[in-house]
Amino acid sequence: MSNFYVTTPIYYVNDLPHIGHIYTTVVADVVARYQRLSGQRVHFLTGTDEHGQKIERAAEEEGVEPIELADRVVSRYHRLWEQLGISHDDFIRTTEARHRRGVEEVVRRIQEAGDFYTARHEGWYCTSCESFYTEKELLPGKLCEVHEAPVEWKSEDNIFFRLSRYQQPLLEWYEKNPGCVRPVSRGNEVKSFVERGLKDLSVSRANLAWGIPFPEHPGQTIYVWLEALSNYITALGFGQPESADLYNTFWDTDDGTRIHLVGKDILRFHAVYWPAFLMSAGLPLPTSVVAHGWWLRDERKISKSAGNLVRPDDLLEQFGPDSLRYFLMREMVFGQDAQFSDEGFVDRFNSDLANDLGNTVSRVVTLSRRTFDGQTPPESCDDNRLIALAEEAVRDYHAAMAELAFSRALESLWRLLAETNQYLVEKEPWKLVKTEGTSPRVSRILWTGLEATRLTVLPRSLARSLLKPSTNPSSENWASWPKTISRMRK
Ligand SMILES: [Zn+2]
Repeated sequence: MSNFYVTTPIYYVNDLPHIGHIYTTVVADVVARYQRLSGQRVHFLTGTDEHGQKIERAAEEEGVEPIELADRVVSRYHRLWEQLGISHDDFIRTTEARHRRGVEEVVRRIQEAGDFYTARHEGWYCTSCESFYTEKELLPGKLCEVHEAPVEWKSEDNIFFRLSRYQQPLLEWYEKNPGCVRPVSRGNEVKSFVERGLKDLSVSRANLAWGIPFPEHPGQTIYVWLEALSNYITALGFGQPESADLYNTFWDTDDGTRIHLVGKDILRFHAVYWPAFLMSAGLPLPTSVVAHGWWLRDERKISKSAGNLVRPDDLLEQFGPDSLRYFLMREMVFGQDAQFSDEGFVDRFNSDLANDLGNTVSRVVTLSRRTFDGQTPPESCDDNRLIALAEEAVRDYHAAMAELAFSRALESLWRLLAETNQYLVEKEPWKLVKTEGTSPRVSRILWTGLEATRLTVLPRSLARSLLKPSTNPSSENWASWPKTISRMRK
């Protein structure tokens, strides 16, 4: 058994959850569940980012304290993750004491390394990104490229991090660890960004009340990215010696995987700034940072500022969590952008779930139940073409999962499902039952149909019995999933 740590970004509490947040979290959940089933020791972290000017202002507009606003949004996240069956092990809030203690220790170590200095900071500032931009980086009309919203001119004394020192160490890290930034195409973009030269980074803000004070620098607050990114280790107990077990198990270890899942818009922060902070603090780096694409609607990123949000409540209420999870994993080629449309969702729902999966399962389960009095057909079948196809499907599935190619993994299972359907149509067990009753032939056909559909739904646990056809699938194993399917068909 080895250790597997997977994280989502922590989500800003200035907005309610939408499809973008859901997507990253469902991906992390799928990865975590897959690794658990593979026998790894897994820790899955998600949480919320609660500090910064954006939240201070949003609270001010509503006339509430920032923490009230945070509490309200956090409870929405908790409820949503429960509805969606998210299996996270921990949920960190950056307003928690454990986070603050860990961040202070990160800052202390960077200070000790001599990587901070104070200087005047001027530039175009996007409050939504919490980031300074040069004139060249802006869209015409002085708009932030990410948010397409106006930026403001800012001039103040800040504490700077000597990011420029880490250009070479970062390039060496990318070089020595192929795949530490994925997909490769985005890894190359990050690398050429670093090759063009790194400017030192402002890591504090003056006159910002809602944040963690910069130790030994009165009037300065820790810049939200340095603070927020540290959540990945503060949640494990870093900087809190009395509760550092998880940190030692999942972060400070040579034997393990530490993977950050992020949207492509925040890849630079995770693949450049975060490893540089860690290097400076003398701490281990993540083993990989993986960026996914955006959900688009009418060719634009779905976001609060674009005003084209897909809110989860209606979809969940109408179609249930499994359908939404399936759609997200099937529709987006991981790493690329994908279109979200109601028609696309309903099409997938009808063709893949209700028709391919629902009808096949319902047909074979109903017939088998009726014919064999609710029991598994007594005779198994060890020579039919579905066995070879199932072996292939399982192999392709695992290969795809290893590359986080979720949509390909599902495709390989759906190929098996189509063949199972075809097999049943050819053998026509519903006709044979009328003339042969519970004959060995009927038993073998239904057994095969049940086994292949079970494999489609639970490719890991199912692999076993089909690969060893002498073992009957235990009724216990497949008794639970028709319930899931019927929920999908509702
Ligand atoms: Zn912005």
